[in-house]
Amino acid sequence: MSELVHRKNTRPVKVGNVTIGGSNELFIQSMTTTKTHDVEATVAEIHRLEEAGCQIVRVACPDERAANAIADIKKQINIPLVVDIHFNYKLALKAIEGGADKIRINPGNIGKRDKVELVVNAAKEKNIPIRIGVNAGSLERGILEKYGYPTADGMVESALHHIKILEDLDFHDIIVSMKASDVGLAVEAYEKAAKAFDYPLHLGITESGTLFSGTVKSAAGLGILLSKGIGNTLRVSLSADPVEEVKVARELLKSFGLASNAATLISCPTCGRIEIDLISIANEVEEYISKIKAPIKVAVLGCAVNGPGEAREADIGIAGARGEGLLFRHGETVRKVPEDQMVEELKKEIDILAEAHRLK
Ligand code: SF4
Repeated sequence: MSELVHRKNTRPVKVGNVTIGGSNELFIQSMTTTKTHDVEATVAEIHRLEEAGCQIVRVACPDERAANAIADIKKQINIPLVVDIHFNYKLALKAIEGGADKIRINPGNIGKRDKVELVVNAAKEKNIPIRIGVNAGSLERGILEKYGYPTADGMVESALHHIKILEDLDFHDIIVSMKASDVGLAVEAYEKAAKAFDYPLHLGITESGTLFSGTVKSAAGLGILLSKGIGNTLRVSLSADPVEEVKVARELLKSFGLASNAATLISCPTCGRIEIDLISIANEVEEYISKIKAPIKVAVLGCAVNGPGEAREADIGIAGARGEGLLFRHGETVRKVPEDQMVEELKKEIDILAEAHRLK
């Protein structure tokens, strides 16, 4: 771990019933793809996201119809609702009035000071934070002219400019994102931001691509930041069903031991020694453990030759063994089970472990 551990030193900021920053875990966010004014569709999508493990959800607010829908949406969901507004202070006021738990708006883009004050005062009154969203693709003209093109320093300067506007109004419930679709630029911008201020950082590699390429790109960039202790909440941006964003974010957090309430799958890459239909079993088990809210490690291995020993860290696992399966714990075989009952037996053991964690 590098010396830069921003995460532990950030200011705690409340968003609905969760607190981002401070000593808290990173929260997973996503954004709906429905038209926000279509309350039914938006609520249905949010419920799917909640079920997948999304902890904070954001909706776009491009017009009055969307702003008017916020109160209705808010009533029907269980996780904090963030409303994303560009420029328009009236929409911001409406969203806050409707019960938004956080708004995403850049104060420097709102316009005259009296309008900024109206928004900031409304946020203060409702005790909700503001996320400043710095994006390499939409830096202020003055900053672009100064640096010639989007740079990490320019992005930090932009963040500090917006932060100052809020601080001058004695507003400190601030969260900042420093997004860029270029991985190197985003990483540098977040690293510099982590040194420049102690407000919580919302991580993201924006416009990262489709499910496959975007996952790789996001993991590459966010992985560097997470390993350095940077970031308090994250959104993986994919051109895909937003449920996939949540799954990728959770997997990423698990990779760094940053999700205390999720199970992990260890599965072998298969080779010529394989004795079972490993790939479909691994997919089935992965789907099963996605609902388990305990830090259990589950292994699924193609053969018993190297299997159990290679997955010693697994709390429970199965390995193929010619027509049957070996059930093992921490590298030691517990019992043999017929191949056709192997997965069901494994699921039962997973449930027992999950229950034991729940009762701890
Ligand atoms: Fe091959 Fe067995 Fe290792 Fe899987 S566990 S990769 S099948 S040796």
